Amino acid sequence: MKEERNPKKSLLYYAIISIIVLLLFNAVIVPMIENQQIVETQYSFFLTQVDEGNVTKVEVQSDEILFEVQDESGNTQIYSTGKMDDPDLIDRLYSSSGDIAFTTVTEETNPILEFLFSWVIPIALMIVLWNIIMRSMNKRMGNMTNAMSFGKNNAKIYVKSKTGKTFSDVAGQDEAKEALEEIVDFLHNPQKYAEIGADLPKGALLVGPPGTGKTLLAQAVAGEANVPFFSISGSEFVEMFVGMGAAKVRDLFKQANEKAPCIVFIDEIDTIGKKRDGNIGGNDEREQTLNQLLTEMDGFDGKKGVVILAATNRPESLDPALLRPGRFDRRIPVELPDLGGREAILKVHACKIKMENYIDFNAIARATAGASGAELANIINEAALRAVRNGRNKVCQSDLEESVEVVIAGYQRKNAVISHKEKEIIAYHEIGHALVAAKQKDSAPVHKITIIPRTSGALGYTMQVDEGEKVLLTKEEALARIATLTGGRSAEELIFNSCTSGASNDIEQATRLARAMVTRYGMSGSFDMIALETINNQYLGGDTSLACSPETASKIDDEVNNIVKLQHEKAVRILSENMDKLHELARYLLEKETITGEEFMRILNSENA
Ligand code: ADP
Ligand code: MG
Ligand code: ZN
Repeated sequence: MKEERNPKKSLLYYAIISIIVLLLFNAVIVPMIENQQIVETQYSFFLTQVDEGNVTKVEVQSDEILFEVQDESGNTQIYSTGKMDDPDLIDRLYSSSGDIAFTTVTEETNPILEFLFSWVIPIALMIVLWNIIMRSMNKRMGNMTNAMSFGKNNAKIYVKSKTGKTFSDVAGQDEAKEALEEIVDFLHNPQKYAEIGADLPKGALLVGPPGTGKTLLAQAVAGEANVPFFSISGSEFVEMFVGMGAAKVRDLFKQANEKAPCIVFIDEIDTIGKKRDGNIGGNDEREQTLNQLLTEMDGFDGKKGVVILAATNRPESLDPALLRPGRFDRRIPVELPDLGGREAILKVHACKIKMENYIDFNAIARATAGASGAELANIINEAALRAVRNGRNKVCQSDLEESVEVVIAGYQRKNAVISHKEKEIIAYHEIGHALVAAKQKDSAPVHKITIIPRTSGALGYTMQVDEGEKVLLTKEEALARIATLTGGRSAEELIFNSCTSGASNDIEQATRLARAMVTRYGMSGSFDMIALETINNQYLGGDTSLACSPETASKIDDEVNNIVKLQHEKAVRILSENMDKLHELARYLLEKETITGEEFMRILNSENA
């Protein structure tokens, strides 16, 4: 489009400029030459001048007569007068005493001007008008003209690129990489598979939570296979007009077939791949697009070397037809990284950054349980930014530790104003958590306690870090975690005989965990192994919906309340048994604002309280 518009524009400019020049010429310059000193007079004056012999020249034009009069001193003056039906005029001129040169000019025209006026200017005006109209149409119905011209410029829709990413850029996801390596091998030598008669999977679906590297993996496949990579996001198929998305799918596959072997990557496929339902007023466009996609995936030759990768974090919402063998028959889970995976991801990203020689990545990985690859990449970058902010040219361990907290809880709010009384409450609250955690054997060790407020709204927090990777949660651990969560509020109650709103987040977390124990983990006394809730979006927040009768729902509530109540009582008991330690630690924390797990344990285990 762009390349075309420029010459058009300059053509238009030439036309406008030449019109302006012509008009100027015509309106100002031509009359200046022609109408020089012509005086209009009456016909009778003309006749008397002829009779008196003063006229030297006469020019009879179609509608007027121009004549030149010479006075006694020899000066000449041109006059014009209206033409009259006067057949005797010629005789009169002949017989005049003066010597008159007379002639008649039917019409004084300039052939160039005439041509310009009758052809060039009207055409130029038409072009200008047409342009203005088209432009305003384009503005108003941009989408429509785009859609209409779609057939012409569709080659630009899909990014075809060598991505420059390889499997070495992806850390952790070993199972996913293994599954994809087979696809790469297939693209390298498809005949090996063809000889034995095997059909390779036409499509593989990468599923997992956001930020785990699905897009990155697809790019790495393209980089490794060294073939063209067509990347398109599901939302790009969704058009204003029914049928356009389907046309795009057709076109995508046509191009892919021409470029085979190649990879087609459809990111966020759930946008178009949602389950079709019989709802009246369902999204026709989306369904047509999906149908076209299904047809295309059946239609092309599996041995030719077109591999379709797709990524989604909502696999449960995909249409079953999309998942049947022969289409996206491979499902490659891309889960949140485990301890080893997190460490590897941190190292991959740390490569690009100047670091001090000894960095304990394992410690950072342990402190970031549940973080996705994208978050880990962000942690490394935050650390580098912090190093620059502090005027250093290398990242050190404390940069990384601080940036973990930044990513978890936001930046420190150093100048937040908090009264001494409130600081005290916060200190007791946090020590309450830490003490309850430390005094239970099924609880993770305390790593750090801080009462510096953060931009996320946290006024302080107690960080617990497990020694190793945990994949299972026992009932004892779950209960211990709930007790720890209630520890903060318990300390407030014991020391200040009151409670504050500071425990709201603890309450939320404790409730969620207790509820999951009852409804999903089968860890309550009154229900057996019954699923009372189902997860809707496994990878996106994990909302749940109840799958039980209202009576059962109210029993669940009672059960949840019981669990939390028991643990709350346990926490209060633990704290009242360790009252002096609670005071001592809280005072210490109030003074230091941040203490490490080791400091905490040292004071806790010291004899003289
Ligand atoms: P998504 O799964 O949402 O598509 P992306 O592939 O876009 O996530 O990942 C976002 C960024 O996170 C990547 O560009 C990369 O920097 C980082 N990342 C995620 N997972 C990994 C990983 N396994 N190894 C290295 N970097 C990763
Ligand atoms: Mg993605
Ligand atoms: Zn708390």
